[in-house]
Amino acid sequence: MDSAHRVVIIGSGFGGLFAAKKLKRADCEVTLISRRPGHVFQPLLYQVATGILSQGEIAPATREILRGHRNTTTLLGDVTAIDLTTRTVTSHLGTEVTVTPYDSLILAAGAQTGYFGNDHFEPFAPGLKGIDDALELRARIFGAFEMAELQATPELAKPWLRFVVVGGGPTGVEIAGQIIELSRRTLKKDFRRIDPRQAEVILLEGGDGVLAAFGPKQSLKAGEQLRKMGIDVRTQAFVKDVDGHGVTVASQDGTEEYIASNCVIWGAGVEASPLGRQVAEQSGAGVDRGGRVEVLDDLTLPGHPEVFVVGDMIALNQLPGVAQVAIQGGKYAAKTIRGRLEGKPHPGPFQYFDKGSMATISRFRAVANVGRLELRGFLAWLAWLFIHILYLVGFQQKISTLGHWAVAFLGRARAERTFTVEQSRGALTNSRGPRDRTKAAGGTRSELPREDAA
Ligand SMILES: Cc1cc2nc3c(=O)[nH]c(=O)nc-3n(C[C@H](O)[C@H](O)[C@H](O)COP(=O)(O)OP(=O)(O)OC[C@H]3O[C@@H](n4cnc5c(N)ncnc54)[C@H](O)[C@@H]3O)c2cc1C
Repeated sequence: MDSAHRVVIIGSGFGGLFAAKKLKRADCEVTLISRRPGHVFQPLLYQVATGILSQGEIAPATREILRGHRNTTTLLGDVTAIDLTTRTVTSHLGTEVTVTPYDSLILAAGAQTGYFGNDHFEPFAPGLKGIDDALELRARIFGAFEMAELQATPELAKPWLRFVVVGGGPTGVEIAGQIIELSRRTLKKDFRRIDPRQAEVILLEGGDGVLAAFGPKQSLKAGEQLRKMGIDVRTQAFVKDVDGHGVTVASQDGTEEYIASNCVIWGAGVEASPLGRQVAEQSGAGVDRGGRVEVLDDLTLPGHPEVFVVGDMIALNQLPGVAQVAIQGGKYAAKTIRGRLEGKPHPGPFQYFDKGSMATISRFRAVANVGRLELRGFLAWLAWLFIHILYLVGFQQKISTLGHWAVAFLGRARAERTFTVEQSRGALTNSRGPRDRTKAAGGTRSELPREDAA
């Protein structure tokens, strides 16, 4: 096997995992390197944060998923350097430094939370991009109710019972919807000194409406629905500052307001993995404001047909930062490499097939756009349920997720409310430093369906 073609895949998200799956039994050696041991199903992170699902349900071990792939080695490691000249990838795990050579590279390192250049917001307003974020948010959300219960007066309890969610895209809407359901249904009888139903959820959106990418009608209806549920939806609301005790918001006419809250959640922007800039600089490819790489129409870098960039890291034809772009991109890259090895002709440019988009608003309510069809309410929620179970990786995960959904949606309980002392320490005192995240350029995906511009 000395002369086998070496394919390195960076990332075990949608792009990386589906690329690896497509290379099963291909005549090559595949090495998948990821900084996380699991394949995180990001669309359900908000359910981990709000106690519906456990992290294991949405993040099965990549090693286990790929154990039947005899040609694939899975390595845990944080990739810090990609050298396009020597064709090597350097990764770190603890004190171990690993250099992996490649003949073909698929870069699928995704994106991280972006703060529009205001990284000092981060310790006070965590985003929701990974398991660590979801568990921290869980500690912050459930911990806030605990802190409220300890306050001497209702006035002191108020900032603990006021949740501010920044960004009216799907992430913000989903998390806001779940917090209000938590307070109105799940927790309503669990406390003695406070009434959890008094909790306020404020959703701040910089644009004219929530879920703007779903079109004006869906946006309007979603806004109405959220308000009906008790969420204070504020549009044209621009976050100016976030500190340990609240948020300063400016409205369009320039008036500023300070909202006191001890639980602020950021769902307003993303920026591509800094590895994108690294390869762009070496290849002369451009990057957009969000750090996404301007790839060629076959997802490769200029002058480097052996390097593919897929998923949330690419700027191509205004493609949105959604799972299907990553899945289809990963499969396309793998198919191209496979075709080359088998002497097949080039498959032509990457063509994205839009299968539609959906977001939940609450239990039994969602919005879904499929082609020109706009669904709302229970039907959209059923479609959401079906699609998410379909794409969730792992049979065990599907079964146990269905069980947890029955508990949460048919009953009023949430099976996953636990958080650790360590998670609560930073969360409840707002004392943790910024998460260990490599800095990339500030920016947003403002033209994308999933962007949640504040
Ligand atoms: C909260 C949330 C909800 C979402 N909901 C939806 C939805 O409902 N529908 C939808 O279509 N899309 C949704 N998305 C977007 C969708 O999840 C992303 O578009 C998709 O995950 C992108 O896939 P990817 O492979 O490019 O990146 P990711 O899935 O983010 O995977 C990136 C991988 O790279 C690894 N990695 C990163 N940096 C390094 C490094 N330096 N070294 C090694 N490994 C590294 C990560 O650990 C990860 O495994 C949501 C996203 C979020 C955050």
